[in-house]
Amino acid sequence: MVRFVQPVSAPADPYVGDPLLRSWLERQLGPAGHAAAKGRLADLAADVTGPLRAAHADAEAHPPTLVRYDPWGARIDRVDTSAGWRTQRAAAARHAVVALPYLESARGTWGAAARIVQHALLHLYGAESATFSCPVAMADGAAALLSRPEVDADVRDAWLPRLTATDPDVAITSGQWMTESQGGSDLARSSTIARPARDGSWRLTGEKWFCSAVDSAMAVALARPEGAGKGSRVLAPFLVPRYAADSPLADGRAPDACAPGVRIHRLKDKLGTRALPTAEVGLRDAYALPLGDPTQPGLVRAMTLVVVTRLHNAAAAVSGMRRGLAYARAYADARQVAGGRLVDSPLHRATLGTLGVDTAGAFVLAGHAFALFGRVEVGADPDAAAELRVVAPLAKLATGRLAVACASEYVEAFGGAGYVEDTGVPRLLRDAQVLPIWEGTTNVLALDVLRAVTREDAARPLLRRLAAAADTARGLSPALAHTLTAVTEELRDTFAAVTADPGGVEAVAGARAVALRAAYALTAALLVEHAAWGDETAEVAARLWARRWLRHEEIAVDAHQHLDLLC
Ligand SMILES: Cc1cc2nc3c(=O)[nH]c(=O)nc-3n(C[C@H](O)[C@H](O)[C@H](O)COP(=O)(O)OP(=O)(O)OC[C@H]3O[C@@H](n4cnc5c(N)ncnc54)[C@H](O)[C@@H]3O)c2cc1C
Repeated sequence: MVRFVQPVSAPADPYVGDPLLRSWLERQLGPAGHAAAKGRLADLAADVTGPLRAAHADAEAHPPTLVRYDPWGARIDRVDTSAGWRTQRAAAARHAVVALPYLESARGTWGAAARIVQHALLHLYGAESATFSCPVAMADGAAALLSRPEVDADVRDAWLPRLTATDPDVAITSGQWMTESQGGSDLARSSTIARPARDGSWRLTGEKWFCSAVDSAMAVALARPEGAGKGSRVLAPFLVPRYAADSPLADGRAPDACAPGVRIHRLKDKLGTRALPTAEVGLRDAYALPLGDPTQPGLVRAMTLVVVTRLHNAAAAVSGMRRGLAYARAYADARQVAGGRLVDSPLHRATLGTLGVDTAGAFVLAGHAFALFGRVEVGADPDAAAELRVVAPLAKLATGRLAVACASEYVEAFGGAGYVEDTGVPRLLRDAQVLPIWEGTTNVLALDVLRAVTREDAARPLLRRLAAAADTARGLSPALAHTLTAVTEELRDTFAAVTADPGGVEAVAGARAVALRAAYALTAALLVEHAAWGDETAEVAARLWARRWLRHEEIAVDAHQHLDLLC
């Protein structure tokens, strides 16, 4: 008896094999803009399917370790990472995954739409980066913060070129030290203190509880300037050099030693993101540079960074969803069940097709957030800023939840093999679960949406887009137009009710449901916009998304029929 071995094919090139990504770029960038991006995208996709996939597997198999003492007993707190992790680091720099929107050449070619090209790079890169997408997100957030005019020019000139370098020997990433054990969501409880030093720099003392990418050359740390009082608004962002090489206090220490006053207590043993070194960090009079005037309320400055990392979180969620779908489809094409290919089973086709609808919706939602951010960053566009205020939390919260649900289905789509570590499939689920947690849990983001709607008039741009999409949808499908019109009116009433009593139990307890409803409606509107431009996948996805998420109907039969379009 011959032992059966299942043939498994790798999915297609992630750029060539993703028609929605390509049509999105064609519409958003125009044919010339898309043509200008194609070389970059094809290069990255080729790297992803070759050396980066191998590096991803290596980094996953060899998690980082903390060496706390040298052989003679001296405390060294050295974080050792794998060759795969370092390969991912170099590739992120070389492919300008962080740098692109800051490059003059990119701004010259694409203007505000450089962020759309960056989103495409992240979409290709993130899913098989062994979560190097995390330091990429934080480096971009730090670069955006350093770009603010309030930041001292000397600090910016010293660090921004390194964060946005494309030479792997020069490029650095950043950590983001905010969470303390007494409060991650509740930053008001932060107890890290910043004290001014005589030379104009500051010294930070405190304990940070979750510090990802702790191998990065710098971190943005939140601290309470001495005497600033209570609450979260007064917290200020500081740049902390992580290594002795960049600390003026180093006093002869080896360049790759910890900067004086920075201690790595331990690495977290996490459910997922295993290649990513996440540490508990102690600060004792650590050298720090203020990012903006620390005597002025600083949380608003730090939010620049948080918005960027929330957008990256959405990009990472969608990247994982799309790649998981591609793997599940490739497996279904090869696997035989009940006398035929798994992909020919109407039920399995419906399962994958439904995942395709969710993935298409999540993609346009994340893509829209990046497009808005580019317009804010380059053109200081007030309409885009008003819309981004609510779209950033909506995109982060909706895609984070979808990513977890889809990842669970991908694991199941491989049957027992999906549960076996060395297939690489289980990590899809493990790594998805962080997406709804960090940079704001679902509840925390839902409350942020509530604040935006009730205090900052953020409902207006959202409702305007929904109403316009309802009009547009008339030419595509009367049922879809009707659904969008009804949901727009429903949300208008809901927003009015919560604005009348924003602190009431109904508004607060219902905040998650309202935020998700708004995110799903916005997604339908964005799919309609793309469908109206002429994209067939978006047209199918818009109809099925609206039925699934706005009308709560079963879409199995249509998802089965349209599988080949959807993935
Ligand atoms: C893998 C990983 C990496 C991370 N990396 C970093 C990092 O690099 N830097 C960093 O600073 N942090 C990092 N974090 C920490 C992360 O940002 C926090 O864990 C997150 O913000 C939640 O904070 P918390 O852990 O204090 O949970 P809590 O805030 O205590 O939340 C517990 C529960 O309470 C809910 N909740 C909280 N507040 C409210 C409210 N007002 N109303 C209703 N419900 C509420 C939350 O939704 C959650 O379900 C990381 C976390 C993980 C898992």
